[in-house]
Amino acid sequence: MAFHTGGEASRRSPDVLIIGAGAAGLMAAFTAARRGRRVVVLDHAPEVGRKILISGGGRCNFTNTEMRAERFISQNRHFARSALSRYTPSQFLELLAAHKIPWHEKKLGQLFCDNSARDIVQMLLAECAAAHVTILTDVRITEVTKPQDFRVQTSAGTFTSKALVLATGGLSIPKLGATSFSYNIARYFGLSVISPEPALVPLVFGKPEESWVQSLAGVSLPVRASCGKTGFDEALLFTHRGLSGPALLQISSYWEANQPVRIDLLPGQDMTAHLAALKKAKSQMKGPAALSRWLPHRLAQELARQSAPEERPVVEWSDRTLRALGERIHRLDLHPTGTEGFAKAEVTRGGVDTRKLSSKTMEAQTVPNLYVIGEAVDVTGWLGGYNFHWAWASGYVAGEALGESAAA
Ligand SMILES: Cc1cc2nc3c(=O)[nH]c(=O)nc-3n(C[C@H](O)[C@H](O)[C@H](O)COP(=O)(O)OP(=O)(O)OC[C@H]3O[C@@H](n4cnc5c(N)ncnc54)[C@H](O)[C@@H]3O)c2cc1C
Repeated sequence: MAFHTGGEASRRSPDVLIIGAGAAGLMAAFTAARRGRRVVVLDHAPEVGRKILISGGGRCNFTNTEMRAERFISQNRHFARSALSRYTPSQFLELLAAHKIPWHEKKLGQLFCDNSARDIVQMLLAECAAAHVTILTDVRITEVTKPQDFRVQTSAGTFTSKALVLATGGLSIPKLGATSFSYNIARYFGLSVISPEPALVPLVFGKPEESWVQSLAGVSLPVRASCGKTGFDEALLFTHRGLSGPALLQISSYWEANQPVRIDLLPGQDMTAHLAALKKAKSQMKGPAALSRWLPHRLAQELARQSAPEERPVVEWSDRTLRALGERIHRLDLHPTGTEGFAKAEVTRGGVDTRKLSSKTMEAQTVPNLYVIGEAVDVTGWLGGYNFHWAWASGYVAGEALGESAAA
């Protein structure tokens, strides 16, 4: 795909060259172009915004009404604050309204398209077309240098530009064309990169003593999953490789190797008290039946097998057994041996170190006119529309700065 305006010369040497036509790159492109900059966007994929198209089950969870910097992970906890305050969920909703795109809230402030994620891509493309942005797809970038201006060699020829924006995202889903391009170029220009790791990703279990986790594949229930002081109340799903579901995906972004994940299987309730009440009522129920009153049957069976005197009715259980079982159900420590990796990760944690980036403009402090935006930066959002909002916000502030800078 290619659409562009202006002559060949202006296409070859725009004011702003953006690598990556995803959420952040397209937002930065039309924001800068609306302010009079000549903008060219290059992408190696055959179509733009492929992650947008597959996101949110095809409906794109494009933002979240609960947007705040604390819901982003970064070595610099405050870095996202400035961009998030300058581009809010309401501003994105105004854009949707201008394009008559219907949306709805699903849960926890998560906003989705009513129809299709394609609405978002078409909106971004329409904004780019109106602002005369040139977008070239299927372009392979072979070299980036900066003799004076940036000089980018590609399969579609050489481009020179005063400003260069790195917007190629993270490493998740390599089969969709994810690459380490932004990291490599950032390093080339002296920026550092926080080790990229899969995030919002299912965790896997390889220890024989926890192989029972996989045997429960298909079981799901609401839990609280935590690592250290951070916890999420959402659904947990047992899979044939380990654990997934929103609570687990959220906590995976905080999980470090060799650390346990603590699961409260019955958050907000008191399992010991429930069991004590059954005992007081002289219940003749055995372990699996008793636990099934509060937990999915297969999970109840497994926990009873592991820790309850299965063959005896609850009325015969000692208080110590009741307490131990209650404790285990509220504080189940599991020991993942890894993640399902970038092939299954929704995002990448880590990325271009924010310490040498301006939080107001996303420009590299040590390399004037070099910008890094979106997922390529060491800013990772929670599940629920936060990552797209970071792409919009960081793209927007960079686009504004480019529009105001002396790049013309
Ligand atoms: C399955 C899935 C579902 C998701 N759902 C949601 C959701 O509902 N809500 C949410 O907030 N987030 C979601 N995300 C995360 C979200 O998609 C990303 O955080 C967001 O797309 C990042 O935007 P970006 O512009 O930085 O990068 P991207 O959208 O990844 O765009 C990067 C662009 O750069 C191009 N590129 C890469 N390497 C090169 C190269 N070497 N040369 C040229 N071009 C290159 C790519 O082709 C791509 O077009 C989801 C992610 C996945 C994988």
